[in-house]
Amino acid sequence: MSTLRFKVVETAFNRKAVKFESPKEATSSYYGKYVFSRKKMYDYLPKETYESLINAIDHKEPLSRDIADSVAEGMKQWALDNGAKHYTHWFQPLTDGTAEKHDAFIEHDGKEGVLETFSGKLLMQQEPDASSFPNGGIRNTFEARGYSAWDISSPAFILDNTLCIPTIFISYTGESLDYKTPLLRALNAVDKAGTAVARFFDPTVKHVISYLGWEQEYFLVDEALYAARPDLAMTGRTLMGHESAKNQQLEDHYLGAIPTRVEAFMEELEVECHKLGIPVKTCHNEVAPNQFELAPIYEETNLANDHNLLLMSLMDDVARRHNFRVLLHEKPFSGVNGSGKHNNWSLGTDKGVLLFAPGKTPKGHLQFLTFIVNVMVAVYNHNGLLKASISSATNGHRLGANEAPPAIISMFLGSQLTEILDGLENNKESWKQMKGKEGMSLNLSQIPELLIDNTDRNRTSPFAFTGNRFEFRAVGSSANCASAMIALNAAVADQLNQFKQSIDDRLRKGQELNEAIIEEVISLLKYSKNIHFDGNGYSDEWKEEAARRGLDCETSVPLIFDSYLKPESVQMFARTGVLSKVELEARNEVKWEMYTKKIQIEARVLGDLAINHVLPVATRFQSLLLDNVYKIKSLFPQVKADEIAEQDYITIEKIAYHMKSIRAKVNDMIEARRVANVIEDERKKAIAYHDEVFPCLDIIRYHIDRLELMIDDEMWSLPKYRELLFIR
Ligand code: ADP
Ligand code: MG
Repeated sequence: MSTLRFKVVETAFNRKAVKFESPKEATSSYYGKYVFSRKKMYDYLPKETYESLINAIDHKEPLSRDIADSVAEGMKQWALDNGAKHYTHWFQPLTDGTAEKHDAFIEHDGKEGVLETFSGKLLMQQEPDASSFPNGGIRNTFEARGYSAWDISSPAFILDNTLCIPTIFISYTGESLDYKTPLLRALNAVDKAGTAVARFFDPTVKHVISYLGWEQEYFLVDEALYAARPDLAMTGRTLMGHESAKNQQLEDHYLGAIPTRVEAFMEELEVECHKLGIPVKTCHNEVAPNQFELAPIYEETNLANDHNLLLMSLMDDVARRHNFRVLLHEKPFSGVNGSGKHNNWSLGTDKGVLLFAPGKTPKGHLQFLTFIVNVMVAVYNHNGLLKASISSATNGHRLGANEAPPAIISMFLGSQLTEILDGLENNKESWKQMKGKEGMSLNLSQIPELLIDNTDRNRTSPFAFTGNRFEFRAVGSSANCASAMIALNAAVADQLNQFKQSIDDRLRKGQELNEAIIEEVISLLKYSKNIHFDGNGYSDEWKEEAARRGLDCETSVPLIFDSYLKPESVQMFARTGVLSKVELEARNEVKWEMYTKKIQIEARVLGDLAINHVLPVATRFQSLLLDNVYKIKSLFPQVKADEIAEQDYITIEKIAYHMKSIRAKVNDMIEARRVANVIEDERKKAIAYHDEVFPCLDIIRYHIDRLELMIDDEMWSLPKYRELLFIR
């Protein structure tokens, strides 16, 4: 009998909330406690050092070596004062997540003791043993050197008694081996290009800043149940499990009461985030049972991304203290919604003007239209690439599954913006009538206010305009946001550069500035119209329509990655200086390899579960039925016995059929893996895994889930959906 399952279910269901004493003080008193913020820099650094560092950060200038020594000294003192014993360069390898190598601050003092030291050299650059991080062939193993280098634009912080220094990670030959390097390049590119265009409207603009506000969705599961499901523990998702009779049909979980255990977890998580300067603001339930969401106030993109990565590891730590496990997988359970990470993205000037928000004057409106239309063109030209930027083995389960954005990138603009753009196309003078907040006159005058509270939001769109920003909703919950932000900011930067050139050409030909801009905007609007779609993205008609419009409709993840290597992508990344062809090729190798590995692990785990858990239980139940039939036959005359045992016969045959099917498919899957594993080309191997191995998983699952419905509940050895999905 399945005693283990009942034991863990009992443990999980009887679990009490872990007490968490929220600090009595106001949040502002401990906010950023563990961050080496400007205030801490001011307190711990000599005046000249402080000024040089701030100047370098604000003007993106390199920091001189002697300044670095002085910064390191102050930073060390602050870290020691706050209980840190170690330091680490904290970086973002091409696996999702972060990596670090901890070193103690100590050095021999020459008197058989130690003293704490930290130098500018150690702060600025290190050489982690990097041979084990994916690099797509850029580093040969004998030249396994990779360097991490300090990113002064993201502040150091203390986590678990370790001073963490955000760094980039590059190869000996200077190619990026991480997400942060190309992200910083893309942010610089969009800064330069955006500034040049923004200066058409305000010549005093010095910088354009990219902002990101992510919304992180996740599931919680009790840790006892989690531990009893090898598929969850090893792959992050359930590879089998029949739907619970009740899941999200009633939608009663959404914005409903949060269970006390979860509430305690959320409270502690929020406090931890605030101490680390992560400005989380909202926590609530999501649509699916056990699904929740957390969102911060938006920040500059590089920092926001660091904060999201930090959050993901914090969540894991805090969850364990509350006897939970966090599931960041995009699709942990079939039959209920998956998790995403909406990337709210905008551009703003150093003057505090949000460029996707309608302005207050006709000039402001023209600037707004200019930036919106340039984003439309960028997303249109690179829709396949943007899809590639959010694609992964895990997000592949979620996209196009009638709950999340479809596997086609289009743009939702909403009725008001659509109306404005249509108006513009028909009458190029119409932007002059768009009145701002002050000028409440006719027709389009209320638009600015209404747009800010854009209510007709379309949940089926992967990329939606939401008043003063765009919401890229297709990003996966476990992903590093940088992947999407690199592609998007680079594509937009490239388009803004081209726009600037076109306007300069027009000006050279003697056209007046506003006239030049409006004509260019209208022509770009006409050109990029096909990316605009406000309808239902889940419908089959849209798939057909999108194909007619020439949008990228590929659904196979390994083939979606090809977009990175298409000439238009390679050229765009080269023009903006964000990624070289060598880097793109190497990164794709890593993507294909990771895809293969994820499916390979899933296939192995499901194979084991099927053979070691499911088939033995099915056999036991089947023999119980057979035993019953024998007894009936020994007691009753043949005809009567057949009548009584009729259902048993049917069930026995069904069980036999499912068991046979499982065995056959597991063998097929092993064979498909054997064939795929000898393919050397990473792309072809990933395609083989996608086409030949992956489909076996669903078929095996189907038969297992049928068996789960038939077999005596007491015999079933693994926690069921109805147990996993409802926290008491
Ligand atoms: P939703 O209604 O979609 O849940 P919220 O109002 O909770 O949206 O905001 C989602 C995220 O968008 C938050 O992180 C918020 O800070 C962010 N956000 C708001 N304005 C901007 C902006 N201009 N640029 C980037 N992110 C923004
Ligand atoms: Mg949202």
